[in-house]
Amino acid sequence: MALATELSLDLRKFGLEIEKAGICCRFCKTKLKASGVGCWGPHPGGIRVIGYPDRGEPYENHQWVYCKCSKCGYQWSLKKLRRWL
Ligand SMILES: [Zn+2]
Repeated sequence: MALATELSLDLRKFGLEIEKAGICCRFCKTKLKASGVGCWGPHPGGIRVIGYPDRGEPYENHQWVYCKCSKCGYQWSLKKLRRWL
């Protein structure tokens, strides 16, 4: 799926996809969890996100999306995670 053609990313769905795929942290081998998905912005290289109505949805700016490892705390970027899905 090309990011450029995508209108918005559903963070909840994305987190579940990561969990379902069983993606592990490349550093400490811990399985990444849906709860580790987060974002910050505005970020010019980011994308529009939805899926967290409790966090002030809709986001007005483009966000940098990541999934944080629950063990070592590394924030894996959307770009890398997409490659592994
Ligand atoms: Zn880790």
